[in-house]
Amino acid sequence: MTILVTGGAGFIGSNFVLDWLAQSDEKVINLDLLTYAGNLGNLKSLEGDARHVFVNGDICDRNLVDELLATHQPRALVHFAAESHVDRSIHGPGAFMRTNIDGTFALLEASRAYWSQLQGEAKAAFRFHHVSTDEVYGSLKPTDPPFAETNPYEPNSPYSASKAASDHLVRAWHHTYGLPVVTTNCSNNYGPYHFPEKLIPLMIVNALAGKPLPVYGDGQQIRDWLYVKDHCSGIRAVLERGTLGETYNIGGWNEKANIDIVKTVCALLDELNPDPAGPYSRLITYVTDRPGHDRRYAIDARKIERELGWRPAETFDTGIRKTVQWYLDNSAWVADVQSGAYKDWIGTNYGGR
Ligand code: NAD
Repeated sequence: MTILVTGGAGFIGSNFVLDWLAQSDEKVINLDLLTYAGNLGNLKSLEGDARHVFVNGDICDRNLVDELLATHQPRALVHFAAESHVDRSIHGPGAFMRTNIDGTFALLEASRAYWSQLQGEAKAAFRFHHVSTDEVYGSLKPTDPPFAETNPYEPNSPYSASKAASDHLVRAWHHTYGLPVVTTNCSNNYGPYHFPEKLIPLMIVNALAGKPLPVYGDGQQIRDWLYVKDHCSGIRAVLERGTLGETYNIGGWNEKANIDIVKTVCALLDELNPDPAGPYSRLITYVTDRPGHDRRYAIDARKIERELGWRPAETFDTGIRKTVQWYLDNSAWVADVQSGAYKDWIGTNYGGR
């Protein structure tokens, strides 16, 4: 058996591929364009493992996707590939529209053509699993209940708008063509292999380098955090047992203000890697807020818990400790991703921070 994964060299996709192959002998075809966010270094432990086939290519390339489906006959396509960074979507939305909307469209059309010629058990078994975000629901007020699957879509950034569009395409391909799809909308992930432009790895990496820890606005923006491996187990649960055409929110009931996340990271670093110059919190620097910055996201995960029996394995305390320790243990990986395109982009957009 085989699954086709898109974006499997990125943060969540690579964690998913590693987890998948640790738990089963199924082959994984990994289609990834290796943009600045794709890093084969995440998959070094799979070198020489014939169960992992990496294909450097674009999800918008319909011919390539058709060929991969025809050659490998996967039982599922798990779609992670995306432009995923909100700040980048504000500076340059075009790439987000192309990959997140056109790319999802190309995958849906290729999957529809492939699935429609399958027969019997293979046809019944096929799944298109679309991986999406809670940001499609917009922003919550402090007293609002967390996002349920029934919440209206109110995306506020070019990133979340492009993901919302892709979610709608996936829904429409099920309702119009009967394509067997499932969609998951997950809260903010953190954990190993997270690219250091995102809040938690940026704080760890900057703190270790003695650089300022930039916190947007008043730092009171609230996000709901989930350890990446728990997201991967949620995807597996939905892929294997989810109801076709349904969406499932995945979250860990861990609402935290950004400033509290930064303080937690500093406290863990003080404990695990004390700095003779003083507590890492001395580096916290408030910077101008991001335009249109959503104030609060929170996920109501009761549907996946109730219907599929999924539960996260980590609490925030255990997950964040593992994450900080991982970055301390993997300085070579950090040095690698900090070179090249990432460095140029950070230099241009964050003034070198
Ligand atoms: P990421 O940016 O780390 O990885 C994206 C991957 O997609 C990279 O490997 C990149 O090379 C690849 N890619 C980009 N454009 C491509 C193209 N045109 N063709 C083929 N590959 C391409 O992203 P991530 O954080 O791992 O997120 C993965 C998915 O999960 C995304 O769809 C994102 O919307 C969703 N998601 C992320 C989070 C989060 O907290 N990071 C939360 C919920 C949902």
